[in-house]
Amino acid sequence: MSKERANPMTTTRFAPSPTGYIHIGNLRTALFNYLIARKAGGQFILRLDDTDPVRSKQEYVDGIKQDLEWLGLTWDRVERQSDRLERYKAAADELRAAGRLYECFETPIELDLKRKKLLNMGKPPIYDRGALNLSDAEKTALREERGAGHWRFKLDLQRIEWTDGILGDLSIDAASVSDPVLIRGDGQFLYTPASVCDDIDFGVTYVVRGSDHVTNTATQIQIIEALGGKVPDFAHHSLLTGPQGEALSKRLGTLALRDLRVSGLEPMAVLSMMARLGSSEPIELRTTMQELIDGFDLSKFGAAPTKFDVADLTPLTSKYVSGLSFEVMADELAALGVPADIAPAFWDVARDNIDVRGDVAQWWTLCRDGAEPLIDAEDAEFVAVAKTLLPAAPWTGESWGEWTKAVKAETGRKGRGLFMPLRKALTGMQHGPDMSRLMPLLGNVKL
Ligand code: GLU
Repeated sequence: MSKERANPMTTTRFAPSPTGYIHIGNLRTALFNYLIARKAGGQFILRLDDTDPVRSKQEYVDGIKQDLEWLGLTWDRVERQSDRLERYKAAADELRAAGRLYECFETPIELDLKRKKLLNMGKPPIYDRGALNLSDAEKTALREERGAGHWRFKLDLQRIEWTDGILGDLSIDAASVSDPVLIRGDGQFLYTPASVCDDIDFGVTYVVRGSDHVTNTATQIQIIEALGGKVPDFAHHSLLTGPQGEALSKRLGTLALRDLRVSGLEPMAVLSMMARLGSSEPIELRTTMQELIDGFDLSKFGAAPTKFDVADLTPLTSKYVSGLSFEVMADELAALGVPADIAPAFWDVARDNIDVRGDVAQWWTLCRDGAEPLIDAEDAEFVAVAKTLLPAAPWTGESWGEWTKAVKAETGRKGRGLFMPLRKALTGMQHGPDMSRLMPLLGNVKL
């Protein structure tokens, strides 16, 4: 059964750690959760996983919000884990009282040695629960020697099963997983207990996140149950790779949403792609959020890694931009200084010749200032003749036709040999808008 039906109780969350700016991979998670909540008429929570006081920064909180706002992914509620430390402490006490949380004193080096030893024996590197055998006196001695210990959740060694919204029926043997550390020696709560408490308290019904969290999900299910919470539904989407299937992790730094924004990519282009990439349905440009919401179906996504090429966002952006009406662009064009009387005609000419909105400026510069003629040596004589036949300004929609006809009659040139040198002479460029429509807009022609 689809978990995305209309249901106002549906609650999802996007839970970035504000330790950096969010990138295209994070966006996938944010968008899926957003679309599910909106489709169901439920709630979308922005949760800031900021229990790490050293790495979490306000500038990243602000940056994450700006990026989501740019995309139009509005949240209904924002929560910060750093505000909820008392709640996590209470949950830890509850687990301790239930015998599910135990103190451990191994140093990172000791743990590493244990792991290596198991791996050398061809065994999975699972924590051996050595700390469970410590007597109270031993613990006191260790505490004196090493300071407070870290705390692990004692997994119930059974199979943990759930039906994943993307991966289908999953079953993980708890015996194949180390007891997760919930609290560090310095008292800092790690992501797991915080996330579990939040999911319980905020009534999260559906957790959608990357497949790197599958094992976390298994352990979180047990912790939620130990705390008496209701286990939400889960879905794990595949991770993005580069166009050749290469890991994207190293390049994600260059795929921050703010960089995509600065490069002029359009939110709807980015969202249209990410709402479909990796699913069995085609990527189609959508121009409104509602269309994206209506067309979203998580069950169409597969488990295979999803290839992502940032270059594919450019054609979608230019398609989106060329579809913008003059009314939408009017203010931007006025800000560029395009006079109101020619702005509609100018936009009509420019719209099909730009990748991003910002490109419109270069066409306006051309129309306002003119360009240095580009004349190849072998065309010099031809262009000199053409110049004498140039119709007098002001030019109209007919001027280009009249001019090229006259030049053709005089020189005998036709086709590309006729048109290209004339385009280059008027615009200084080899490519550009349809010349009959551009010519009336050209001022200060330097030919
Ligand atoms: N802060 C975690 C992350 O960014 C959240 C994972 C989750 O969705 O629970 O990986």
